[in-house]
Amino acid sequence: MNHPESDPASTPGAPAAGRVRIFDTTLRDGEQAPGFSMDAPAKLRLAQALEALGVDVLEAGFAAASPDDFAAIARIAGTLRSTTVCALARCQHGDIDSAARALERAWRSRIHVFISTSPLHREHKLGLSRQQVVDAACAAVERARGLCHEVEFSAEDAMRTEPEFLAEVFSAVVAAGATTLNAPDTVGYMTPAEIAQRFAFLRAHVRGAETVVFSAHCHDDLGLAAANSLAAIEAGARQVECTINGIGERAGNAALEEIVMALKVRGAHFGLDTRIDTRKLYPTSRLLSQLTGQNVQRNKAIVGDNAFAHESGIHQHGMLKHRDTYEIMRPQDVGIAETRLVLGKHSGRAALRQRLAVLGHAPDEATLDAIFARFKALADRKREVHDEDLDAIALGQDPDAQGPWRLMQLNTSTHLGGSASASVRLAHADGRQLSEAAIGDGPVDAVLRAIERATGSALELAQFQVRAVGAGGDAQGQAHLLAHHDGREWRGHGVSTDIVEATAQAALAIVNRITRHHAPAQAPAAANQ
Ligand code: MN
Repeated sequence: MNHPESDPASTPGAPAAGRVRIFDTTLRDGEQAPGFSMDAPAKLRLAQALEALGVDVLEAGFAAASPDDFAAIARIAGTLRSTTVCALARCQHGDIDSAARALERAWRSRIHVFISTSPLHREHKLGLSRQQVVDAACAAVERARGLCHEVEFSAEDAMRTEPEFLAEVFSAVVAAGATTLNAPDTVGYMTPAEIAQRFAFLRAHVRGAETVVFSAHCHDDLGLAAANSLAAIEAGARQVECTINGIGERAGNAALEEIVMALKVRGAHFGLDTRIDTRKLYPTSRLLSQLTGQNVQRNKAIVGDNAFAHESGIHQHGMLKHRDTYEIMRPQDVGIAETRLVLGKHSGRAALRQRLAVLGHAPDEATLDAIFARFKALADRKREVHDEDLDAIALGQDPDAQGPWRLMQLNTSTHLGGSASASVRLAHADGRQLSEAAIGDGPVDAVLRAIERATGSALELAQFQVRAVGAGGDAQGQAHLLAHHDGREWRGHGVSTDIVEATAQAALAIVNRITRHHAPAQAPAAANQ
């Protein structure tokens, strides 16, 4: 266990003047939203990208939620070396103790305790009086304080809490040792002017306000999350809680890239800075999309495909004469490469390795060999190999998804207005080869059924997505599958110029993950089930 006193940088109440702390909750609030769940290796990968991006605090999860969440937090805490790692906990001893255990190896640890303070939540959710809420909050902060470097307290549904009572709760937890006070707009209800007024009130009425950092946590139910976060900053908040691509509960959280670029582009207005390396915003956004299989909308601010596209003739004319006519920031400021390097069949291993590094992939030699083989095969089928293709191949060679099963042959046929059939031939690392056929509602369904039969793994499919990687008729198809098995979620990713093959690869990736997890491997089904 690290001790707070041992760290000379331990001045939690006083951030550098003129700086806003970026608290990233992509792996907690974002990851708990439907469609965005990630497994432990994906979480670690994203956490490392967020550290490189320069977030100040990374909320890695809710330790008491499940053993998987606990393990993911612990792995992240044991890996990051310049970012504070935070774990969420209800105001309950069990939650706080498991957060502390998950954070034991953190370079710098923060426990984030929360309790609802609004009358609606107090009465209908908690059944607690005002005084009971204050007592529970203080007891939690006091317990957490002895177990980590710093404690953040959140008043859930703060914006619908009586302002005087909120100030009373905050004053009490400051006395108990909390150094960051988060006032979330949990339901995404506020307007910017109201948020600003509330933060000004809190700063004026919380005892010890000058010794702590106020934090905003805004949701986008009315499309105001970024605007509300900036209003809170103008009213003195010096931490914002946000997520990459704005993912999160319901309509999502405030988007990290929007807040950061607003502070940067309008630097003269805000006079505030962050530690974010803005050239990593786009690559990080893209990594999250790849890991979750969820694209951002084309017109998404900062990171959408159209964010820097100028289509209208008048705009293009202006841009050619002078970029500033229609552009308030440059694509390269957020890490969108201006000239996209295209690789082809004559590109060598060194060029591939170099390009992968630019894209944030650092494969070991064996994985690079596998990626290079896939790259060469693709370059033969498709003249130009783009960054998106390389990302897809690199993710498809994720060593955690490699396993005993390989796809040897695949045939499908579809009949207009009828069912589809598929046959697969799979090879197992132990030398067995198995063939199975199945019919289904469509080719994808038929392939999945055939793979289930051959491997004996029942996959309950929860999500299925196929999308084109890059543009053009020869674009690769990328398949993302999410399946339930044994009460857990499993993700698989496959890529091929044939979308049915991509789906088969994704399904096999899941079967391989499950097999590796449940070693010794399940025996294949002896008969059709
Ligand atoms: Mn939230």
